[in-house]
Amino acid sequence: MKAVRMYKPKDLRVEDVEKPVMQPDEVMVKVHACGVCGSDIPRILTYGAHVSPIICGHEFSGEIEAVGDQVEGYQVGDRVVVPPLIPCGHCEWCKKGIYSLCEDYDYYGSRRDGAYAQYVSVKKTNLLKVPDGVSYEDAATLDPCANAWHGLVNRGHFKEGDTVAVVGAGPIGLFAVQIAHMKGAKKIIAIDVWDKKLEIAKSVGADVVVNSLENDPVKAVMDATDGEGANVVVDFSGAPVAQQQAIMMTAKMGRVVFLGISHKGLDLKPETVDTLMRGQIELAGSWNSFTDPFPGEDWTESLKMYEKGMTAKDIISHRITLDEVPEIFKNIDKGHYFFNKIMIFPWGVEK
Ligand SMILES: [Zn+2]
Ligand SMILES: [Zn+2]
Repeated sequence: MKAVRMYKPKDLRVEDVEKPVMQPDEVMVKVHACGVCGSDIPRILTYGAHVSPIICGHEFSGEIEAVGDQVEGYQVGDRVVVPPLIPCGHCEWCKKGIYSLCEDYDYYGSRRDGAYAQYVSVKKTNLLKVPDGVSYEDAATLDPCANAWHGLVNRGHFKEGDTVAVVGAGPIGLFAVQIAHMKGAKKIIAIDVWDKKLEIAKSVGADVVVNSLENDPVKAVMDATDGEGANVVVDFSGAPVAQQQAIMMTAKMGRVVFLGISHKGLDLKPETVDTLMRGQIELAGSWNSFTDPFPGEDWTESLKMYEKGMTAKDIISHRITLDEVPEIFKNIDKGHYFFNKIMIFPWGVEK
């Protein structure tokens, strides 16, 4: 089969490799669509993965082509999407059902081969059926959508009637805008440094958009909320300056969630510490999206949103084949290259 393998950071090769061997508790998934995750970028350009060579790609959907002897409830031809975490099942966090915090997990596309390939052999525990009417490319964005759900609803305690600020309008942020919009937010403010992303945010439900290179986002949120601030603020950017602003734009008794990966420190200014403390603001971290029963509500509730009309159509900026994968990472590496969700179609671009 055709696959893209990473040998070391920046070394991606399109190759003809052996089709994976299917175990009795697995199904063979013919991959129809696989998204490039934000986490694939530092994995491929900077840090490398846990094994080498490896086939990256963990945001994928496809069609079952063969079913192992121990697998029940799935048939050849079923359309499926794959939650990529394989929790160990016996650490403290797995026993509590908080699989995102598993201390000894496996993962499609970072610890074992993933879906920048035509086929992946997938465990029966890692399958969800794709509802009729939901496209493969939409289904392949369920992972970022579930992450948005986790940050906004599970960690941010978002409820109908809340005002929401979305800091960073990449794919996960744009899903958060859609979820907040579909679930009855009072007002949604989206913040980014790219006007193109803000245009999409507006088209999927943001009431106010702010380019933080041009305008003070804290002031903009205060203006949009009669000086109160937003009840739920989620930072998807991971930029320290944005994290600081996120706290400053939160309403009293509100909640700030840090979801964007930072790898940096954060020095809070005196007024930020004051705002956090005197406003009794809660600050929460958000990591991945897996709860009990696996893969959990972040996934199953997100899937229902697609049935109600949510789509990644406008969030996908590039639709490419496996042959084009090395080139796109070269472009990203050069810097200041506009992209949003990049979707790979291993059998040719489908709509
Ligand atoms: Zn991902
Ligand atoms: Zn575990």
